[in-house]
Amino acid sequence: MAAAGTRLVRVTDAVYAAVTGHVNWTLVTGDDDRVLLIDAGYPGDRAAVLGTLAELGRRPEDVAAILLTHAHVDHFGTAIWFAAEHRTPVYCHADEVGHARRDYLEQVSAAQLARHAWRPRWLRWSAQIAALGALTRAGIPTAAALTAELAATLPGAPRPVPTPGHTGGHCSYLVDAVLVSGDALITGHPVSDRVGPQLLPSVFNHDQARCRASLATLAAVDAELLVPGHGDVWHAPIRDLAAQA
Ligand SMILES: [Zn+2]
Repeated sequence: MAAAGTRLVRVTDAVYAAVTGHVNWTLVTGDDDRVLLIDAGYPGDRAAVLGTLAELGRRPEDVAAILLTHAHVDHFGTAIWFAAEHRTPVYCHADEVGHARRDYLEQVSAAQLARHAWRPRWLRWSAQIAALGALTRAGIPTAAALTAELAATLPGAPRPVPTPGHTGGHCSYLVDAVLVSGDALITGHPVSDRVGPQLLPSVFNHDQARCRASLATLAAVDAELLVPGHGDVWHAPIRDLAAQA
């Protein structure tokens, strides 16, 4: 069973979304025992990530690779552990590799967040994510660029859809007709009252104009199932969701 607060949603025969109150990750099963993870929660989500693998009958060593939509701590936290402990390959867009290795950091600072701390939602959220290990500065030295040849060998043969803006090398993935959009398009967030297709608050986005341009990229994706980085799984044409956001 997955840890309390984590729901494992079967999106297709091969694609499962782990939805928590703070961040999501995606599991893609293959024809064999292998499984692909797209994103991997906070460092403190390790037990929950392992719980979702177990729910699908998979062990940590069955994880063929972890794809990152981007290298923010809420999406790659437990990938740090997989890479160190199980030598799990971790891939992301070529433009995100330096970020994943922590050669530099493109993440909202504590000082920027402090300006929002008068809002109860933000204050509560900040305390919760700190407890999940949000303040770690660790990177993944072995992170590498996902090439087309590599992607073809992974469960589900995911197709990268580059969506820079939230970070410089942010990338979405199309797998089994499901769009895994990371933080390029979300449907809810602990700091937001709104439920439905949206961009993250601009304080979290490295480049807001590129975020909007990436929505146009997503609008061209022919799919009707969305697993966002935050919020619920959504079933509607992606072009409509991108337009609403
Ligand atoms: Zn995020």
